[in-house]
Amino acid sequence: MLSEVSPRGRMQILRWTTLGTLFCIVFAVSFNFLMFRDLGDPALTRALFSSAVVAFILAAPSFFYLSLKLRQLAKTNHRLNTIASLDGLTGCLTRRAFSSLVDDWLHGVGNPGETKDSLENRRPGTLLVIDADRFKSINDRFGHQCGDEALCVIAAAIRSSMRIDDIVGRLGGEEFGVFLPGTVDAGEIAERIRRKVETISFAPQECPHQLTVSIGGASVSGGSTFNHLYRLADERLYEAKRGGRNRVAVGPASSAVPPLRLVTQNLASAS
Ligand code: GH3
Ligand code: MG
Ligand code: MG
Repeated sequence: MLSEVSPRGRMQILRWTTLGTLFCIVFAVSFNFLMFRDLGDPALTRALFSSAVVAFILAAPSFFYLSLKLRQLAKTNHRLNTIASLDGLTGCLTRRAFSSLVDDWLHGVGNPGETKDSLENRRPGTLLVIDADRFKSINDRFGHQCGDEALCVIAAAIRSSMRIDDIVGRLGGEEFGVFLPGTVDAGEIAERIRRKVETISFAPQECPHQLTVSIGGASVSGGSTFNHLYRLADERLYEAKRGGRNRVAVGPASSAVPPLRLVTQNLASAS
């Protein structure tokens, strides 16, 4: 049991066991001293010694067991939270976990010594909404399982185009979200993702099928929320779809939507 606990966890168990046991011994000895101080020296010493020994025998294993169980519970909770925040198919964050991380970043949560809603905390970033093109046709042609495989390879292509601090989530169905903390000029990055997906070699049942995505994005230099950015990025995504798919449409949140700037001209329509 103890072998599953990390060195840091073991230190905590040791600390709680030691402190808890010491507290019980001090309490038992003080109590006995108050109760039996009129007994005279030899009897009082025996009473104090026996109370210390009994307190140690009872408290040390109890505190050890309790703190070990608490550690295991905390570890299980952490594991459950991690599982709950990851999409089972693609391994990306769920929409809820993704949006809450984005909001935390935009609101400056984690900046040392600063509170959640102070304006000076608000930080820049870009939200990209990435939607697989004509995905329904993959399910219709090759079956749902091949559709799932396509989602996994698209997610892997997106993740492989990201930097370590970027956040990737599955927003639902065949739609993914990427948040680029601190980046306001994301046209190039979005274009890189689009190209990466376009070059995936996907051949279910030995039948090559080109995968493409359309990407809408909105960037802010501060003072926004996930919902606000998502609404703008989604509007741009649909402009990209209307423009022919396999396109990127990214711009600052402050610019009007529509019209919008299409960063990429139509390259190849999705099959
Ligand atoms: P568009 O280019 O306009 O986005 O067309 P589309 O076909 O991608 O969009 P539409 O909304 O018509 O269809 C989305 C499809 O994605 C339908 C749904 O069955 C499929 N889909 C959503 N989630 C999953 C999933 O987890 N696995 C599979 N295999 N398919 C999924
Ligand atoms: Mg789609
Ligand atoms: Mg969609």
